[in-house]
Amino acid sequence: MRVMRNLGKSFVANTLPADLFRADIDDETVRGLFRRYVRQVEIENHNYCNRTCSFCPNAQLDRRSTTQLMTDELFEKILSALEGIRYDQMFIWARYHEPMAHPSFFDRLAEARRRLPHAQLVVISNGDYLDRAKLELLEASKLDRLWLNLYLPDGKERDPGELDRALRQFQARTGLVCVEDGSKWQYNCEGTTVCATMGVPHYSYATGISTRGGLVTVPELGAYQRRAACFRPLHSVVVDFNGKGMLCCEVRSDAPEHATAVIGDLSRPGYSLFDFYRDLAPARLALVSPGPKTGVCRTCTSVDGGPDRTARRPAVASVLGRIQPLTLVGEWGTKLERAAHRRK
Ligand code: SF4
Ligand code: SF4
Repeated sequence: MRVMRNLGKSFVANTLPADLFRADIDDETVRGLFRRYVRQVEIENHNYCNRTCSFCPNAQLDRRSTTQLMTDELFEKILSALEGIRYDQMFIWARYHEPMAHPSFFDRLAEARRRLPHAQLVVISNGDYLDRAKLELLEASKLDRLWLNLYLPDGKERDPGELDRALRQFQARTGLVCVEDGSKWQYNCEGTTVCATMGVPHYSYATGISTRGGLVTVPELGAYQRRAACFRPLHSVVVDFNGKGMLCCEVRSDAPEHATAVIGDLSRPGYSLFDFYRDLAPARLALVSPGPKTGVCRTCTSVDGGPDRTARRPAVASVLGRIQPLTLVGEWGTKLERAAHRRK
């Protein structure tokens, strides 16, 4: 199964259009590529998060002492770019902030719904600020998906008593009923028109903890060297609260160690979301090519099931790129993947 999946990914890597890897393409071309390949745009409404989870870089990097909002101008810039291409994939508030900690989030969600009627609007939240009134705002904006994480105290992530206590508090505050979804640690939240689910994370090496671009120490990954290709900078576009366009969702602009992963700056006048997607080209090429991945990617195990030696090679890509039926099959595969991603 894994062999077949890798072969499929190798085929896709070698049939992707060369324009995706060029930093000198015109605006219309990059818009077309964005429309075809981007599956999710992920932003932060502000920098603040009320928690400092031990497995998150927020345990070391301060996201609590001040609240800096994404400016209205910046949010408008992102929204109008997506509106202009009738964006119909995921638009997510996630990353290293708690979206519902600031009231401006709810106004912006409503605005995004109005301007991006075909996009799938998604929020990932720790649920701490959720109550009945906020739930009504989410419902009024027709939020498509609410992904909640119920964080139990360190060392008690699998303590039945802690789970019971936290679930009861959450249900009393929100009026939602959490119904097990085949597993004790995964729930469907009933009592709202929003599709809401809640997980109870317990991160460790065995359950796939991320080093977050090397910021989180995972002893078992100290000597790990990633070689697998990564398609993230092809499919996802990530913008921090301050307008910095990031390599992927694993990295953050407020970590000095991630300075090389800041690819663009949308706060710059005249610099658009599409400029940023174009400027991802060199990193995109390095990440779909064979060989060891360096810098913030070295210890990254995220989606590392991909191909290595069979990843994109210029000679193979050049030959396959001239065989039109093959490139059409590659595009067809991309469309299927996008549709599947939207249904998740
Ligand atoms: S994991 Fe989420 S809730 Fe915890 S500190 Fe990080 S951003 Fe905040
Ligand atoms: S390898 Fe990891 S850190 Fe690098 S782009 Fe992919 S997901 Fe991000």
